[in-house]
Amino acid sequence: MNVEIIAVGTELLLGQIANTNAQYISRQLATLGHNCYYHTVVGDNKLRLRDAISTASKRADILLFTGGLGPTEDDITKETIAEFCQTSLIYHEESLRSIESFFQVTNRVITENNKKQALVLDGATVFMNHHGMAPGMAKEVNGTLFILLPGPPKEMIPMFDQVRDYFMQTYATDGYIRSKVLRFFGIGEAALETALLDLIKEQTNPTIAPLAGDGEVTIRLTAKHKLEDEANHLLEEMEQQIRERVGTYVYGYNDETLASKVIELLQQRGYTLASAESLTGGLFGDSVTAYSGVSSIYKGGIVCYSNESKEQLLHVPKEVLEHDGAVSERCAAYLAKNVREQFNTTVGISFTGIAGPTSVEGKPVGTVFIGISVQGKEEVVHSLKIAGTREQIKLRAVKHGLYHILR
Ligand code: ATP
Ligand code: MG
Repeated sequence: MNVEIIAVGTELLLGQIANTNAQYISRQLATLGHNCYYHTVVGDNKLRLRDAISTASKRADILLFTGGLGPTEDDITKETIAEFCQTSLIYHEESLRSIESFFQVTNRVITENNKKQALVLDGATVFMNHHGMAPGMAKEVNGTLFILLPGPPKEMIPMFDQVRDYFMQTYATDGYIRSKVLRFFGIGEAALETALLDLIKEQTNPTIAPLAGDGEVTIRLTAKHKLEDEANHLLEEMEQQIRERVGTYVYGYNDETLASKVIELLQQRGYTLASAESLTGGLFGDSVTAYSGVSSIYKGGIVCYSNESKEQLLHVPKEVLEHDGAVSERCAAYLAKNVREQFNTTVGISFTGIAGPTSVEGKPVGTVFIGISVQGKEEVVHSLKIAGTREQIKLRAVKHGLYHILR
């Protein structure tokens, strides 16, 4: 099928935000085997949106909209499409209940324009919004499929899972489409592609789609077959081939994260964890506590950003701080060991390093030491050079730390 993405929002035209939704959706469409020939961006203006719909409906089978499903006056996507298609908007009961309960929980009075968010095109397939209020929807009118998704990426991206299922059901009636994402850490996109170059070049079924971001690389495999078992089998075979070459870098599947895998591992072993964070300022604790119910595993952490806090709270010897510096192997080892002992856990992890932009202690930006202390074992310190901005160095250090716990 041939898809046109129509992003609605004046802020996109003013350059206040980038059209990352179109980028994300285009990549997804490619892995689903659909063609995207046009990206359109149009402001919150009924006449011009109508014009864009009219043009797009002449050249695409599927019009996929993002944005403008919210409660305010400038959110006009649904209304304009309903008018164009001469369909009415009706309340979607489940979405209405979910919006009402949100207002009850937060002790606020629901307004009419908030209820408006539960309106959907009559007869549409509805995509529930588990991260916000406005549901998404899909409806075919005169041979054109209209798909409407909310603007905020935090709502749109998770909702796209439902769109993917919808596409698979709608367009794979003559067979099954199965897909799975392999998640890699510790190998760059270029190195991964080089290792898999022949597979990527020859790909037909399954298709292989690498994607890099935030220091990680993923590969989405998508297989099609008339028989469900065969589609699964094709996926497994390709996964096996990939694993034979770069299997040591695979840490998980689909929506798993390094943090979720660490939690799973520690849970299985009955281990507990504590952290001493200098470089990362609490980011490690944040990544672990993103998951509910981890208090039985993650006991806590200390953000020891200054030398005094390293010395006073975590008993790093003055001599180490003066001689080797705070960004050093020995300091990382003391931090990991002492935080583990203070929290009485099985594992202790520490982060010390230079996030930049300026170098410290005569050590270059990106110098990072990650200490790992496991009860009954010698401390291990991983010495890394991480490239990137301050934000990236901190985030990548956290990911390296999680990865080293896994190994
Ligand atoms: P809301 O209920 O929040 O109003 P909405 O569906 O009406 O959602 P918009 O009002 O168009 O969506 O956009 C809300 C926010 O979502 C924008 O301020 C922007 O942060 C983000 N956003 C919208 N469109 C895009 C896009 N194409 N790419 C990336 N971000 C977007
Ligand atoms: Mg809005």
